[in-house]
Amino acid sequence: LTLLGIESSCDDTAAAVVRGHDVLASVVYGQTSLHADYGGVVPEIAARAHAEKLDHCVEEALVKAGLGLADLDGIAVTAGPGLIGGVLSGVMCAKGLAAATGLPLIGVNHLAGHALTPRLTDQLVYPYLMLLVSGGHCQFLIVKAHDSFQRIGGTIDDAPGEAFDKTARLLGLPQPGGPSVEKAAKSGDPKRFPLPRPLLNQQGCDMSFSGLKTAILRARDGVVAQEGGLSVQDQSDLSASFQAAITDVLIEKTRRALGEYLKLNPEIPAFAIAGGVAANGSVRDGLKALCAGLDTDFVAPPLHLCTDNAAIIAYVGIARMTAGETDDLTLSARPRWPLDQQAAPMLGSGK
Ligand code: ATP
Ligand code: FE
Repeated sequence: LTLLGIESSCDDTAAAVVRGHDVLASVVYGQTSLHADYGGVVPEIAARAHAEKLDHCVEEALVKAGLGLADLDGIAVTAGPGLIGGVLSGVMCAKGLAAATGLPLIGVNHLAGHALTPRLTDQLVYPYLMLLVSGGHCQFLIVKAHDSFQRIGGTIDDAPGEAFDKTARLLGLPQPGGPSVEKAAKSGDPKRFPLPRPLLNQQGCDMSFSGLKTAILRARDGVVAQEGGLSVQDQSDLSASFQAAITDVLIEKTRRALGEYLKLNPEIPAFAIAGGVAANGSVRDGLKALCAGLDTDFVAPPLHLCTDNAAIIAYVGIARMTAGETDDLTLSARPRWPLDQQAAPMLGSGK
């Protein structure tokens, strides 16, 4: 099957063409500069930019793939969760294309896109344990099928990606925060600031990151009070200390989640990561070493498939279509749509 994928749930406008496991084209238009003055993604600005860019993005993906609409078997689109204006822009675009061509329309859960990425890239077999760690989410999932996910733990407050972005803002580094904090951390001392590792010694695999955001704020204020500002070395040391704290928490909690998972699936020791924070080198290296020590297969998709893109959406579309599942023009956009609850209420249904 060859599918067009469309993604517009946050601040990336993306389109891709995927055939089976081959990504024929993947185009991503970021919106970072549009939101730069506001200290975060502004939903209205995002929705408008998606609406303006989607057609062009789709066209570019088709040209890059060397295909026309007639060569496609279906159109997959992120139908949630995310910023509702953006999701609606994508759903409208996909509906227009489906109506014009008669191609099947397939609504995709954005989080399923992240969670199934290791099947696109490495053809990992079910089941596997997934750490989905992104800008808005952080959860351990046992992925049993394209539509079957068991959540065994996750953050009780903020997501690590959000904490990276906040840290970058506090330190005066550019957005998105993850890549700039990682870059600054390379020449930093991770031990200079002893930051907390929240919930590290508590049972289970739930996590918390909001305390870490407060701690990095205090550490920064301490340096500013002493030195009158932040030097480049201070920025690096704060970044390195923050990244080390996040990495330590993710490694320790993954160790526990793997323990839980392996009790249930002793024959199939497999672990994968996805989502924007899975692009972080320190996190990837730490988890890789953990898995090597536990004789567990470890899959970390390439960086451009960890952050938001439409290839992962097209791929879930292929999985759904293969299972005989398609939607029609009544497909609705869902601002909230937990993965372990596939049949989520539709927008406006009042449930
Ligand atoms: P969600 O998938 O939860 O709806 P999202 O789609 O906005 O959220 P992603 O695109 O998956 O999130 O990830 C974006 C997040 O990943 C941002 O918070 C960004 O700072 C973070 N990120 C990207 N690259 C890195 C990196 N190298 N290190 C750490 N964090 C990173
Ligand atoms: Fe995402």
